[in-house]
Amino acid sequence: MVHKVIHKLLTALLASIALPVPLFRAFDYRVPPTLTEAVRRGARVRVPFGRRELIGVVLATQPDSDADPADYRDLIEVLDPTPLLPPDLLGLCEWAAGYYHHPLGDVVTSALPGRLRKGAAAERDQPLVYALTDAGAAARPAVPERFRAQRAVLDALQGAPLPRDALACSAGVLRQLEDKGWIERRGVQTQSAGVPASPAPTAEQAAALEQLERDDGRFGVHLIEGVTGSGKTELYLRRIAACIARGQQALVLAPEISLTPQLEARFRERFGDGVVSFHSGLGDRGREQAWLGSRSGDARVVIGTRSAVWLPFARLGLIVVDEEHDTSYKQQDGLRYSARDVAIMRARKLDIPILLGSATPSLESLYNAGAGRYRHLRLERRVHDTPPPQIRLLDVRGLPLDHGLSPPLLQAAERHLQQGGQVLLFLNRRGYAPVLLCHVCGWSAPCNHCDAHMTLHQGRGLLICHHCGAQQPIPRACPSCGERRLLPVGAGTERVEQALANRFPQYAVARFDSDRITSPTALERQLADIREGRARILVGTQILAKGHDFPGLSMVGIVSADQALYGSDFRALERMGQLVTQVAGRAGRAGQPGEVWLQTHEPEHPLLRVMAEQGYRALCERLLVEREQTALPPFSHLALLRAEAREPDAALRYLDAAWPLFDGHAGVTAMDPMPSGMERRAGYTRAQLLLSATSRAALHRTLAAAVPRLSQLPDARRVRWSIDVDPYDLM
Ligand code: ADP
Ligand code: ZN
Ligand code: ZN
Repeated sequence: MVHKVIHKLLTALLASIALPVPLFRAFDYRVPPTLTEAVRRGARVRVPFGRRELIGVVLATQPDSDADPADYRDLIEVLDPTPLLPPDLLGLCEWAAGYYHHPLGDVVTSALPGRLRKGAAAERDQPLVYALTDAGAAARPAVPERFRAQRAVLDALQGAPLPRDALACSAGVLRQLEDKGWIERRGVQTQSAGVPASPAPTAEQAAALEQLERDDGRFGVHLIEGVTGSGKTELYLRRIAACIARGQQALVLAPEISLTPQLEARFRERFGDGVVSFHSGLGDRGREQAWLGSRSGDARVVIGTRSAVWLPFARLGLIVVDEEHDTSYKQQDGLRYSARDVAIMRARKLDIPILLGSATPSLESLYNAGAGRYRHLRLERRVHDTPPPQIRLLDVRGLPLDHGLSPPLLQAAERHLQQGGQVLLFLNRRGYAPVLLCHVCGWSAPCNHCDAHMTLHQGRGLLICHHCGAQQPIPRACPSCGERRLLPVGAGTERVEQALANRFPQYAVARFDSDRITSPTALERQLADIREGRARILVGTQILAKGHDFPGLSMVGIVSADQALYGSDFRALERMGQLVTQVAGRAGRAGQPGEVWLQTHEPEHPLLRVMAEQGYRALCERLLVEREQTALPPFSHLALLRAEAREPDAALRYLDAAWPLFDGHAGVTAMDPMPSGMERRAGYTRAQLLLSATSRAALHRTLAAAVPRLSQLPDARRVRWSIDVDPYDLM
């Protein structure tokens, strides 16, 4: 009785905390009186959880006069004097947890850099940049060729001072240069002086700018469609300048920026030290500093990959999503979000403009533009007036192929090389050959853990599975019948590189794929070889489609794109169109259109012909008709429940048990569970259940009701399951 009275007098303050545990709920704790001042939405706290202690983030507090103190445990500590996560970012996390049906605690804590997640204090290093001194500038031309690393640093600093992470060299090199007095460390001036002016806009750019300026800093999605070289980046730079002039920050999302150093260099040239990059190559400490810089507002422009969409900006005023069609914006594990879609929601919530740019926009974005939801701006001409190339189909049926290359393709390459041009050969397959075959018994180097072949990597002497990473030495003889001659079947970049080196020994070949390009330095070295004409032939994968400028390139050969024509993936043709168009767009120099050849065994394929003869837009119109007829996105909304287990039947059994949770909801079709496209991968047997809905609302109602119950199903502990909303592929 006495107890009750005292309790009524002291109304308890409860705090709802997001914790890093895989549960679809927040947890309530009692706030001890000493901490009531400090507990605010967005602050990190330490709490007891079972027998452990966890770091969480405060979502809300509410007084509760009916709470029984015995039901709640006390918060231990508040870690941040001012809340670490700004309210708008927390709101975005809450939205994403709901939209992607993912535990909120996981969304919120993954928005924090590693050390802060573990409770470290949020402190900033004094930001520093390296600058070239007058002595360094004077000494630069005389530094001998063999001091490559030192020369590279001096060259890089010629334009503007750069932070440490922008210099791809060892600490020793920097120390030597500092000791000589050629470079020095300076504090960052966020207001950089002597900014180069923007060039006068072309007529097309001027028209687009007029549209863009109308948004007046308010929400609106602008799809900027323009071929490579049409001046999209210049438009971004101008809108960002306006944003900075309003005292706000800008976020630029770009795919794999460690592979596109020119983009970052261009932003730095225009905006100086206020430009900060954010990507996985930075390391924990670098990412944490960029995170804190965006939170303080010092980072005026952040250029980042996918995860930069979660940065805690103090005053975000503009978002740019460059190459908005790029698949790397979709995270394929954990919280399976699309950074482009999250960015659009963030812009909407903040009421700020967002620019989506691409030479080959996604079907979704074209559809939204067509429906009037996005404003569609087009840049049809290249700034330097090189006409875009025509793609020519090269029928290779019946032709002798030299490691995948047909005689007409090789002759065309020879002609361009003799005329002083550079030649690019594209194929989306790394390694030497995708299959190693025994001609006697048919053994074909299967992966023991996947339903897939292992790829032959001749240079490394290995067979490697591209799905699970398993490796083994290349067998000397067939493990099945003992035959000694094993045939490589099909061609990868390594094989094409070798074929070209044999055929054109007088010209150096530069190969671009993830086996060769292992660091920004490696990339920069190869790009320099191309720029300075040391290498005349380029062979590579989609890395070559990513915005690099090759001014000497006069011919592009696409070794094969046929795989997309047979693929079962519903986005295969869209993706093929994007890759081919992007790669083809690299060709052309000095006002001359480039020559583009596409080898195919399907020269009559109607969609291939539409793409070659009428271009990417025409292809998209045809694909949209198909998507509508087959009720695929953007004409429906999909979610995929995936499950995998070591035990062969467990995944399907689990999905069969889950199916009734999704069935019978109006507007949603729950397909029968079925084995995944690649049923066995990395030792797991995989299955999936596809949901298709006519409206987003119906899909989300169904998921909200069903997903929290998925972990209570009998087999839930036997499988790994995940929900993928707006899946990128259905494999
Ligand atoms: P995109 O982003 O569409 O590939 P960019 O903005 O990079 O196109 O422009 C292509 C090239 O043209 C770049 O070298 C850029 O500096 C230059 N450029 C862009 N706009 C102009 C302009 N208005 N006047 C002169 N050069 C321009
Ligand atoms: Zn054999
Ligand atoms: Zn494998």
